[in-house]
Amino acid sequence: MIHFIGAGPGDPELITVKGKRLIEAADIIIYAGSLVNPQVLSGAKEGAAVFNSASMTLPEVIAVMKQGEEEGRQVVRVHTGDPSIYGAHREQMAELERLGIAYDVVPGVSSFLAAAAALKKEYTLPGVSQTVILTRTGGRTPMPEREQIEMLAIHQATMVIFLSIGQMEELCRQLRSGYPEDTPVAVVYKASWAEERQVTGTLADIAGKVRAAGITKTALVLVGQFLGDEFERSKLYDETFSHEYRQASGESPLPVFGGKK
Ligand code: SAH
Repeated sequence: MIHFIGAGPGDPELITVKGKRLIEAADIIIYAGSLVNPQVLSGAKEGAAVFNSASMTLPEVIAVMKQGEEEGRQVVRVHTGDPSIYGAHREQMAELERLGIAYDVVPGVSSFLAAAAALKKEYTLPGVSQTVILTRTGGRTPMPEREQIEMLAIHQATMVIFLSIGQMEELCRQLRSGYPEDTPVAVVYKASWAEERQVTGTLADIAGKVRAAGITKTALVLVGQFLGDEFERSKLYDETFSHEYRQASGESPLPVFGGKK
């Protein structure tokens, strides 16, 4: 059984208990060296074979897995954040299926979740946005025609953009065709790492600020009014509403609008 493991965003304490246990038990570890914090592997067994997939091809990765499996050794494949987001693990799973090798997936804390935590923001604010779009700009992997940034921007929903920090000018130009120019934007570099940095601005000025800060990789671009301070309070914890688990207790002592007043 091969285990795909989400390593989390960087902080070695942000891997799951299960992922950590499986890394500690592994004989062979294949990890995405360009992004996974090596400290996540610090609990590996003495003598475990460690492969950095950054310099490997898909057939090479599969060959290591296949050989390990045939020799009865425990193989883990460690991906950054959660493997389901731009992890390129589907093609590995497809190969393992073809070879009849069993596998499972242990989820991880994606960087987009670590970024919200770092900023102390909530992506889904009542009266602001109830939708989160996770996307990227086209690079060597082109964007499907129906998912052009300009089209996604029309919704003015919360948007999280991966793999695009190198194209900020063009990205912001595309975003401005849907969001107003004064829409807040935050860039989080290396969320949850010791080197974490945050740059905030608007669609009008963020590209220049990011350039000035010298951030060119390992960053997320977060866009939307969820970064602002205007929102409605939730119904879930509203004193004047009853629901399945709680009876209304009366008038709200708090203002109807949350945030800074
Ligand atoms: N599976 C990963 C994403 C892999 S794609 C996840 O769930 O987070 C790689 C991109 O993710 C990077 O280009 C960057 O945009 C983003 N990224 C990964 N780790 C990050 C971190 N700690 N802080 C900010 N962005 C990060």
